[in-house]
Amino acid sequence: MSCHSSNHSMPVAQPTASELILRQDNLAIYQLTCPEFDALTPRLQRYAYHLCKAAIAGRDIYFDQTAPRSLEIKACIEELLWPKDIDPELRKKVERYAVKFLTFNGNYDPETSRKFVPEFTYEEMNHQFRRIWKLVMTGDGHQIEVDNAWLDLKPYIFDPDFRPVLVNKSPESGDPISASAINLYDKGITRRQIEAAPSHYGLNGRFALADNQLVEEVYRAGAPHIAPGRMAKAMEAIIAELELALADAPDGSRPALQALIEYFRTGEPEAFDRHCRLWVKDNNSPVDYILGFIEVYNDPLGKRGSFEGGVFVEDTPATAALRSLAENAAWFEARMPWEDDFKKKDFTPPSAKAVKMLIGVGGEGPTCPGGINLPNDSRLRETVGTKNFILTNVMESGADERAKLLFGEFIYSPEERTLALQGFNERRMAMTALHEIVGHGSGRISPDLKGDPDSYLKEFASTLEEARADLVALWFVGDPKLVELGVLSPAVTRKSAYTAELAYTLIDLRYMPKGDQFEEDHARAEHLIASYLISKGGAKIEIIEGKAYCRLVEVEVTHRAVGDLLAQIQRIKATGDYAAGKKLVETYGIKFDPKLRDEVIARAKPLDIPDRIAFAMPEIVPVRNKMGGVESFKITYPKDFIGQMIRFGGKSN
Ligand SMILES: [Zn+2]
Repeated sequence: MSCHSSNHSMPVAQPTASELILRQDNLAIYQLTCPEFDALTPRLQRYAYHLCKAAIAGRDIYFDQTAPRSLEIKACIEELLWPKDIDPELRKKVERYAVKFLTFNGNYDPETSRKFVPEFTYEEMNHQFRRIWKLVMTGDGHQIEVDNAWLDLKPYIFDPDFRPVLVNKSPESGDPISASAINLYDKGITRRQIEAAPSHYGLNGRFALADNQLVEEVYRAGAPHIAPGRMAKAMEAIIAELELALADAPDGSRPALQALIEYFRTGEPEAFDRHCRLWVKDNNSPVDYILGFIEVYNDPLGKRGSFEGGVFVEDTPATAALRSLAENAAWFEARMPWEDDFKKKDFTPPSAKAVKMLIGVGGEGPTCPGGINLPNDSRLRETVGTKNFILTNVMESGADERAKLLFGEFIYSPEERTLALQGFNERRMAMTALHEIVGHGSGRISPDLKGDPDSYLKEFASTLEEARADLVALWFVGDPKLVELGVLSPAVTRKSAYTAELAYTLIDLRYMPKGDQFEEDHARAEHLIASYLISKGGAKIEIIEGKAYCRLVEVEVTHRAVGDLLAQIQRIKATGDYAAGKKLVETYGIKFDPKLRDEVIARAKPLDIPDRIAFAMPEIVPVRNKMGGVESFKITYPKDFIGQMIRFGGKSN
């Protein structure tokens, strides 16, 4: 793998595949491309442009919600990148910190939930920081106050043991709220207080302490007779762009956008609900988007959604295969290994699209998901169905090259390696599609259950749901039906898929340099499945010639265990069985063997494979005529990650 440093020039030719533009330690950044933009009508191009600007306008909301004080730290970093009088060695350290901070939208690694600190010291940067801090905080600055505020910020940046974990869902103290640094709750708030407090807003809410009283804040712009809420300026900026987008929106997309604008103004959950219903049904536009407070992974209690903005252009050929999967969702539902009572009877086939990402911010980028399935609300999913995106330009980003190197070390025999690499990219795409389209979209909740199962399953809801969707993919992969539907070629068998997937039981440990437990929901879900399969004898950890491997023992035993676990999790979800869900996650999903992890890290190190993948986005640039009016739009690939992040932050040159 070659290593390019960032450059500041615009590309001459349009690349077609994602290109590696920056490599720093374990992080690789690829430039996303979207040639499909050029084929859009001028009107849709303008529509996409304003949607992208709306997403960018909301980027700071995510910073506000996640790492505490990260908006202030971000402002400091953006300023620190300008001064010309910094020592070049120091400057390098600043840039390295900036790359990490801007990639992860804050100073916590999303995979491990651990805080990271800069390589430069407080003392080295004291002078610059003070100068910048004054700029950021005051403008007219009262020196003493500035100094105090700056000292106050110091531990947030430099002390790794100060609020060390972003989201700690199962702390020893038993209180995930006080053990997590996440900024969705003011410091001092406890889980007991939150559970006793009424919440009107949910996804776009936040809890603050004012004079020791618990107050639910809301992210909204405000409207006549409705006071502006938290981050109102950013909310207003999003609305302004959405109103411009509305003018060019396809007719079928307008009602959903109008409801979204209303939601951002009023903050009312009812408006978001209306938006979701309209948005799910709006499937004809080649340009689509996600905007709002969506995923709850960052909330230790799984209630408050992180802001995300994504804009996509349809990848037409890849969509055809997905559509056939979606249209046959009822076929898959009928063959789920769980009780008939929990199977869907009325079927709204989920809509499925292969898309290329134009932009992703907050929960959508720079680290981007490969697949998206929304809305999250179970009742909505059952009544109006779901919408699915597979992000082809994100998924095709050197994944097979990385797998080849990893399998070389973590799969024992050449035969197994060949098997695991069979149709690698194709299988990954198909399993993502199964996870998103068939998996998340499947199942029925017990009619006796009042409300959303997530409100029963609480901090275990997301882990269980991710495991459920992963298991659906494992249950069906290798099924001849997938060949018939044109989703997979016959080369991909159940055995080849399981051999590859099991290898990640060890490989994924390299994401966890410290501690002995997984925090993130997807990581917990994957670990839960692997540990369960091992406990049932479908797979085993074997030591051969002094090295550990996770090997498939018997493909049918594994398949049966996949079915057993899937049926259990579906029952837990359908009946809201918190105790059983907790037991499953705590038994199989959280703890790992730190000795094994140390071995994995030592073996992976010489391979020098990035384990954090992120993306620089395309940028849409207005082309102006002599009078300064916008004539058309051009898509560009700047391949300049830090520069792009600074442009998105509203600062140019
Ligand atoms: Zn998922």
